[in-house]
Parts: sequence; structure tokens; C-alpha cells
Amino acid sequence: MTQPRDWAELGAYPVDVDVFRIPLPLPGDGLRAVNVYAIRTDQGLVVVDGGWALEESRRQFQWALKEIGASLSDINRFLVTHAHRDHYTQAVAVRREYGTRVSLGVGERESLVEMARPGAIHGGPQLVRLRRAGADPVIERLLTARFDRPVDLTNWDLPDEWLDAGTTLPLDDRKLLALPTPGHTRGHLVFADLGHRVLFAGDHVLPHITPSIGFEYSVSASPLANYLSSLAAVRQLPDMLLLPAHGPVTESVHLRVDELVAHHHERLQACRTAVTGGARTGYEVAQALRWTRRGRDLATLDTFNQMLATLEAAAHLDLLVAQGLLIEASSSEVVRYTVA
Ligand SMILES: [Zn+2]
Repeated sequence: MTQPRDWAELGAYPVDVDVFRIPLPLPGDGLRAVNVYAIRTDQGLVVVDGGWALEESRRQFQWALKEIGASLSDINRFLVTHAHRDHYTQAVAVRREYGTRVSLGVGERESLVEMARPGAIHGGPQLVRLRRAGADPVIERLLTARFDRPVDLTNWDLPDEWLDAGTTLPLDDRKLLALPTPGHTRGHLVFADLGHRVLFAGDHVLPHITPSIGFEYSVSASPLANYLSSLAAVRQLPDMLLLPAHGPVTESVHLRVDELVAHHHERLQACRTAVTGGARTGYEVAQALRWTRRGRDLATLDTFNQMLATLEAAAHLDLLVAQGLLIEASSSEVVRYTVA
């Protein structure tokens, strides 16, 4: 089915029988847009992911739904892949007006509870992990930019329903399997329609970028190990059409999973080489690596991406420790790595 040359272009694009991809705008970051997927059923629309609750996003959502003869009040249910603001908050905002049912993976509960805890700080867990990675210069810049503001809980109410692992959702002739894919967040779900061979992949498998790992309020002990296991789990399913939350629809889930696995193996090796070359902390290793597809230096990234990059390097180092390839020694709060 034809797709626009620019995947982020406003519209409602058919991607399967009675399934439409609707890109919704995101403010000022590299992701450009988030795809939500509207599935037409006898009970109204079921929409995978909700977008970020922003005026412009809502306006474009309404406009795109009108193209398929529907409106926000026709949405019966949101199936949200994970609790990030660009996926979850607009589902909650629409529910407030129309009573729409919102479902989210049960693995996200801890993060939602944690962020609602009195005194919770936006970015709190990331600051702790950056400290552990010895990234004080990044922390300083984040604090200058007021990264550590109190959490804004608008549109972060709990869902109506927590989806358990392996829940099957019957939608007319379709069956969506809710498959837990922890890694990007601990409660991330993908929705597999094995009959139609389409995968609503959320941020687990993205066609052009590698998803960040463990950017959430409650981070599990080994998010990268979980992520790689989740890639293996999806790779065991039959190949499907990839319907990602960011980027264009892509022919083969398998192909992209293989690329992501290869990427992480390369990064693990590069991290180990950096430690062999004398880098000791997560931050030093992040400085030794090259970033983005253009091979940029850490220092040329903006502060937010320096944070993500440093945390990603640290996650790789922790996995190498778990694999017995590195040894960690922590004096003070900073962890230092050496080759095993
Ligand atoms: Zn996202």
C-alpha cells in the first residue's frame, strides 16, 4: 500500500485491511513524529499508541481521523505500547473527554507509581546512573537546564487496564497478541497480528534508529540484557510487516531485528576495546565511542543526547560485566571497569 515519501507527513495511510498509520507531530526533537495506528472494528476504532498530548498533535489527529470518516469520539480503546509521553499522554487526555478505555502493559506500573511518588524528580534515576558513570560534566549541564524539575503529572493518570504477558485481544477477525518486550522500557509491549502478519512494534524495533534503553522512572537491573532477549523473542515469531512508532513502515521485522542485534554486538566489542585502551568509566567509554550514523564525537551531541549516549555505554559495560568479559570496581559512587 502506498506510503508518502516523507513518513512524517500528515495523513491517514492504509497499511493493512482496515488499519491506518497516522503520524502525529512531536516538538523539536530528532524523532519528528510518532505513528499511531487506527484499526477499524465493529466496536469502533482501536488505536495503538496515543501520541503526545499537545494541541497541534490533537488537531492533526482529528484531521487525519476525518479523512477516514471518523473522529476522536469513535475511538473505543487505546492500546499503548509503553509509558513514554509521546505514546501515552494523549490517550489519557482523550479518555478524559470521551471515556475511552486505555490499556497499558503491567510492567509499566512501577514506573508510573514511582513518578507519582511525592518529591519525585524528573530525570531522577538518570541522574543517579550518570553519577555512577562518572559523567559529572553532563550532570552539571542537565542541572543548569533544569532537567531535575518536579514531575508534571498532567495526563499521567493510571490506565483503565493493565495488560498481562500473552494477553490475546480479539478484534473482529483479528487477534492481537500482547507480547512483553522489556528493554526500551521495562513494561514495553508489542502487538503481533500473526494472522495478518503485521507487528505493531512501538519503540522496540525501529527502522532507522536504535531505541534508547531504560529511560524510565523505575529501571530494571539489566535493561540491555532484557532488550536483547526481547529482540530474540520477536525474531522467533514468523516474519511480519514492521509497523514502527517512529519511521516508515518496513517490509521485514526479521531483517531489522538482525541489524539491531548486530549493532549491539558491535557496540559491545567497541566498549570492550575502549576499556582495553584505557577508558575506565561509562562516561570515558562514551567519549571514546562514535555516535549516530554519522560517527559523531560525544561532545558534539546536545546535552540530552550526551546523557542517552552515556547511559547506553554504561548499559553495554554492565552487560559485559554480566558476561564475564569485564570486571567492575566501584570506589565512591563511580563504577570503574577493567578487562577480565
Ligand atoms: Zn517513542
